[in-house]
Amino acid sequence: MISTNAQTKLLGLLGNPVGHSLSPIIHSNLAKNCNENYAYLAFAVETQKLADAVKGGYALGVQGFNVTVPHKKEVMQYLADVDDKAALIGAVNTLVRTETGFKGYNTDMPGLLRAMAYDGICLKGKHVVILGAGGVANAAVCAMLEADVAGILVLNRTVQKALELADYFNRAYGTDKVRAAAFSDDFYSVMEKMDSDDSKQSWIAIQATSVGMYPNVTQCVMEDEKFYKKVAVGYDLIMNPAVTMFMKRVKQSGGEAYNGVRMLLFQGVLAYELWTGHKISDELATKVLHILENN
Ligand code: NAP
Repeated sequence: MISTNAQTKLLGLLGNPVGHSLSPIIHSNLAKNCNENYAYLAFAVETQKLADAVKGGYALGVQGFNVTVPHKKEVMQYLADVDDKAALIGAVNTLVRTETGFKGYNTDMPGLLRAMAYDGICLKGKHVVILGAGGVANAAVCAMLEADVAGILVLNRTVQKALELADYFNRAYGTDKVRAAAFSDDFYSVMEKMDSDDSKQSWIAIQATSVGMYPNVTQCVMEDEKFYKKVAVGYDLIMNPAVTMFMKRVKQSGGEAYNGVRMLLFQGVLAYELWTGHKISDELATKVLHILENN
């Protein structure tokens, strides 16, 4: 058992299921290395008990929660306040204790930006294609707009979701940078219009679908070789396996490929910073990253 005492403050995770979550590893190692007296527990909470869990956690003095699938939207109605960017994205993954209740934040969005910066990826002025239009794709589109990329193309199996996502963020940011298409459309002509210098591998591709996740490790949402010839950097948000089929295809075409572990790490780092007010150095983040990668 971890060593606790009467001063230990509690942090936790609300989700269902939570049995495979890496968040307890991230936060227990951050607290240990910062020499801070926090314990972090994962709570499997059914949707109909979510209101009780938030209220009960507050009554017990819990300092903060992470929130994961399936509660990221649902939880918002039980909070005292929601940060503007989290409200825009429509999902909360971090609750911070305030005088009047918990305030909700979304650290997935800045977590992706901090992970890409950590990996040395420059976004400003680049063209980005996002595969997927689900929950994490929302955070990714918002992140790319915040990073002032030149253009974003969202590709999704269900084209309606991609169109709605593009329309929503174009309106919110007063821009027309976000385009949408289906995987089955001729999206290459859209890419060529967006990036007239289409002769080189210049696109950044963010893989935000669940296709290729363990145990379906031989699957890849994009099979076409022509696509990979346009990709300089492939960022797969999947964490398991560590090297996805998408990443293999990017590398085979000469691009750089990354998995989703650093996004997970940095959304946790940002949550920890919100809870404690302490800045986590890249050096400590790297230490925790190695622990996650060897887990
Ligand atoms: P989600 O809301 O359920 O969205 C799933 C997405 O995958 C949708 O775009 C869906 O397309 C697409 N998809 C699913 N099966 C497909 C198939 N057979 N063919 C084509 N497209 C398919 O899930 P999410 O929360 O966005 O998560 C997506 C992935 O991101 C997961 O692998 C998750 O682990 C990962 N993730 C990583 C982090 C991180 O910190 N690294 C954080 C959050 C999520 P349709 O719209 O057509 O159904």
